[in-house]
Formats: sequence, structure tokens, C-alpha cells
Amino acid sequence: VIAIRNLHKSYGSLEVLKGVDLTAPRGHVVSLIGSSGSGKSTLLRCCNLLEDSQDGDILFEGESVAWKGAGLARHPADRAQVIRIRTNLSMVFQQFNLWAHMTILQNVMEAPVTVLGRPKAEVEASARKYLEKVGIAEKADAYPAMLSGGQQQRAAIARALCMEPRALLFDEPTSALDPELEQEVVKVIKALAEEGRTMILVTHDMRLAADVSDHVIFLHKGRIEEEGPPDRLFANPQTERLRGFLSATA
Ligand code: ATP
Ligand code: MG
Repeated sequence: VIAIRNLHKSYGSLEVLKGVDLTAPRGHVVSLIGSSGSGKSTLLRCCNLLEDSQDGDILFEGESVAWKGAGLARHPADRAQVIRIRTNLSMVFQQFNLWAHMTILQNVMEAPVTVLGRPKAEVEASARKYLEKVGIAEKADAYPAMLSGGQQQRAAIARALCMEPRALLFDEPTSALDPELEQEVVKVIKALAEEGRTMILVTHDMRLAADVSDHVIFLHKGRIEEEGPPDRLFANPQTERLRGFLSATA
């Protein structure tokens, strides 16, 4: 369970999150939608300790993981905690950020071996299993530049899965992709949702959000403007802002 309580986050004098609450129970998919600049990425980055926050809390399985006003860049705080949180909440970015000089297999194996210190042979077996799962087993020995964008993103998802995380955080995983390639990544995300993985998904793809989510949150300027089950939210938006947003993205 991920529980965000009244989270406040500012960059200098710019308040980006103004008291956000979100609960992602185990096995649930919560999607975050909203205009550019509404704070979606910032919210995910706070969960993953890529950003500090000023007020409120983030609880992961009951443990507070919020990093309050610590000034992350200047104070590399408790490294063991950071590793534990990032292992448990594995993030997939819009730009897949694969290491160009490593093969796909090496990319997937890197963190479990070097960060978690797991035995190489065991990690290799699980890396191959996840590459198979995302449908690119045959690309294990290729370098990222030899893959299509959709294949690279699937490799990035395999890399996140290989950490054996308790939850996955996706930040617009399909928006850097051409429409045809988008679908192959959508398929993987749907399969993960069906497996009952806990996920927070930031997406501009309303069809994906409608298909996979248990709960959808519409963020507007750092506040939750409206939220609810996807059926209700998309079919019957209550606020003018969500109606406007949905008709603009349709
Ligand atoms: P998009 O849909 O474009 O990805 P978003 O909802 O993910 O938008 P965020 O990236 O969370 O939005 O940004 C929210 C606000 O915070 C924006 O006004 C942005 O300019 C600002 N912001 C984000 N990162 C920083 C930073 N490192 N320093 C200063 N301001 C930032
Ligand atoms: Mg963003």
C-alpha cells in the first residue's frame, strides 16, 4: 500500500503540490491525469525519493518515506533507505534511460547485481524471464540503439521488474513513442495490471487509464480536482475543469 497524505512540494517559491492525498492499495492501479505542469511527475518523483517535500507524508507499507525539506542534492541522506525505497517502488520513465554501452541483458541485470548484490546467475535467470515476459527475449544481447523505442521501453519495464519491486511507478511510459509502438507497451502494462501489481500510472492516454485503473485522479495545478473509478470519472465528469480536459484530450 502506498499512501500519500496532504503532500506539499515547492520548488523555491513555486508551490507545485498543494496538499495531495492518494492511496494505492496492494494490487490496485491508480492513474494520474492532468494538464502539463499540474504536478504529476513531481508526485511520482517524491514517492521515489527523487525529490524532497515540505509537508505531509508518504507512507509505503506503513513506513514514512517522505523526505522533508532535506535538500536531496546536498545531503545524500540514508543511502540504505533510499535503495530500499527505490527497490520497492521501481520507476519507469518517459525516456527509458537505458545504458547505451551495455546490452539489454546487462541493463536489466545491472541494479539487482550492483545495488542489491544479488548473485549474478540468479539475476540473469530472472532478467531473461522478464525480457521474455515483455516480449523481447531475443534482444538480450543487442545494444539499446539497435532497438525500436517500444522495445527500449519494454526493456526499461523488464529492468524495473527485475528489482522485484512491490509497486511500479510509471511516468508517461508511452508518450515518447510513435502510436504503433505505443500499443506494444500498453499491452505489457495491461498484462501487469491483470497480474495484480500495485501501480501508479501517470499517463496522457485516457483509454489506457480507463482500461487498467481501479481509481483515477485528475490533478489540476497541484490539487486533486476530481477523482473516482474510471467508469464514473470518464463517463460522467463532475467538474468543469475535468470536462474541459477530457474534451481537449479526446
Ligand atoms: P507534464 O505533463 O508536462 O509532464 P507534470 O504534470 O508532470 O507535467 P511536473 O513535471 O510535475 O508536471 O511539474 C510541475 C511544475 O513544477 C511545473 O510548473 C514545472 O515547471 C515545475 N518544476 C518541475 N521540476 C522542477 C524543478 N526541478 N525546478 C523547478 N521547477 C520545477
Ligand atoms: Mg510529467
